[in-house]
Amino acid sequence: MSNIYNIYGTDSHNMTLKLLEASNAISLVPSGGNVALKPNLVVAGHPDDGATTHAGVLSGCIEYFRDNGIQDISIIEGSWVGDNTSRAMKTAGYDEVCRKYDVPFFDLKHDKTRSISTPIGDIEVCVRALEAGLLVNLPVLKGHCQTIMTCALKNLKGCLPDKEKRRFHALGLTRPIAALGASLKTGLIIVDSICGDLNFEEGGNPVHTNRMFLGTDPVQIDAYGAGLMGLELDRVPYIMIAEKWGAGRAWFTEKDIISLNEPDNAGSYPRPSGRVAGLTKNVHEDSACSACYASLVRALYVNDRGRGRSIYIGQGWKGKKLPDGVLGVGNCCSGAGECVKGCPPSAKDIAEKF
Ligand code: SF4
Repeated sequence: MSNIYNIYGTDSHNMTLKLLEASNAISLVPSGGNVALKPNLVVAGHPDDGATTHAGVLSGCIEYFRDNGIQDISIIEGSWVGDNTSRAMKTAGYDEVCRKYDVPFFDLKHDKTRSISTPIGDIEVCVRALEAGLLVNLPVLKGHCQTIMTCALKNLKGCLPDKEKRRFHALGLTRPIAALGASLKTGLIIVDSICGDLNFEEGGNPVHTNRMFLGTDPVQIDAYGAGLMGLELDRVPYIMIAEKWGAGRAWFTEKDIISLNEPDNAGSYPRPSGRVAGLTKNVHEDSACSACYASLVRALYVNDRGRGRSIYIGQGWKGKKLPDGVLGVGNCCSGAGECVKGCPPSAKDIAEKF
């Protein structure tokens, strides 16, 4: 069983360094092997809009692996069909990272490809991903209009040439994503869940979770991510298909989660806007940690029964008796007659209380 390392904060560079150090990630690099960093650069969008991996995750990885003696480090990615990868990498600030650390960026849209055998037949994959000594998957945990969520397994689609990406859509995404995850192995996954979008992979409605997590099993990581988004696994069917095809195990227990700090290290939730503000109009918030509030937002998104309820959340309610009939979210609101316990509680636990 793999461990999942969890950290709260807003400084993606330092959070990445701490995750890598705590997990002793250097032991995953094969002797003499290179490291290829695969972020999510699906569109030309600033990471704060909730679609793309923060540049600090890349710089944190580069510093860590360099300090541990790895010289051959690259960034590899191909944006979605119709977008320009080099425009996307500049918008996300990756050009500065590449300059500062003298690390090459390879646009996979121009890479050679090779066919690999998978449970649904052959798939063409970019050679730089296949030949990485350690392929480090750096997804954003966020919603997706077709697959409901996207995280580690689906992020590998960026390692395909455009014509194969189109074929994945024609095949309905679910089985191809699972098949790719079972056949293209990533040794390390660091998830940027600082502000992933609520429901669209191209961003625009960021939910400020201020969290990152690291693991080595993409199926386990996606199962954990689904719970953070309030989703039962059957809502994201590619996870269990990937497990059946040997990509990893969806199972984990509380003991497998290693927390490097507490949610209140990440600061309060910023004022919600757009769709998020609409979801939370009956929420009485006072100094809520980002992770706690994000769990609530995601629960309100997946279960609309909660939207009519009066809900209390935040450290400002600690030790106070709350009005009759309200729902308290998180240990700080145990003064409510009904409370979802946890610090922070998961979106799944909150959604089940509505
Ligand atoms: S229960 Fe309180 S301290 Fe814990 S995450 Fe929620 S608001 Fe923060």
